[in-house]
Amino acid sequence: MIKLGLLGAKGRMGNAVIKALADVDDMTIAALADTEDRPDIVFSLADVVIDFTSPGSTVHHSELAETHQTALVVGTTGLDDRSHAALDRAGRSVAVVQAGNFSLGVNVMAALVQEAAAKLSGYDIEILEMHHRHKVDAPSGTAELLGEAAAEGRGVTLTDVARRSRDGVIGARGASEIGFATLRGGSVIGEHSVIFAGMSERMTLSHKAENRGLFAEGALVAARFAATALAGRYDMRGVLGLRGD
Ligand code: NAD
Repeated sequence: MIKLGLLGAKGRMGNAVIKALADVDDMTIAALADTEDRPDIVFSLADVVIDFTSPGSTVHHSELAETHQTALVVGTTGLDDRSHAALDRAGRSVAVVQAGNFSLGVNVMAALVQEAAAKLSGYDIEILEMHHRHKVDAPSGTAELLGEAAAEGRGVTLTDVARRSRDGVIGARGASEIGFATLRGGSVIGEHSVIFAGMSERMTLSHKAENRGLFAEGALVAARFAATALAGRYDMRGVLGLRGD
């Protein structure tokens, strides 16, 4: 039986994880916490901790994973460079899975985006996302993940080519740009499109999440993987065997 720790237990995703656990028989909640609680206790009691909280806490949670030698699954989005560096550090001694999206469909889409970006080399790439009115970060972790896949397909670094906003007289589009556009409203769980725009045709890959349970089930797949994986930094494409390497 895998002992799970859950951080962000009172949130939308925390609730979805608790619900999804009812359908699995190889995992049990050993400890859970929300903002006001002590995460160190969660790390000390669990084999794997699932984190759906806020990006400001990722560095601390990575350090606790290292201290307690507890595997870590991070679904929190909006991570900055410091957070990624802390996750890399933790990944040297424990298994760390971090993904902006845990769904099978989005991770298959990322593999397709990478291939399309490589094959449609002269086409402009634009990424459009829409989420519910409560989402606090933009662009979404999934949009970032799809942008990374497109950049990988082009053999470039996303931070060098990402165009995250456009406003006013901004001049013509740069040929190598990967553009992001963000919509917010209502109860939308998550919709993403990656548009490949050529001069005579346009190809769009798109995904719509219809149920938050999808991400929770994926997080449990990641936790099951992390419970037995060697120390390292993994993403969901790696967990699902979609990297082809
Ligand atoms: P939410 O606001 O409903 O829940 C977050 C919860 O975390 C809240 O209850 C809050 O009190 C708690 N929290 C904040 N900081 C904490 C801390 N330091 N320690 C413990 N608890 C803390 O948000 P949500 O919709 O559940 O989303 C949570 C995160 O997961 C967001 O970053 C969101 O973008 C991301 N998300 C990822 C995926 C994915 O597949 N990777 C899917 C959906 C959402």
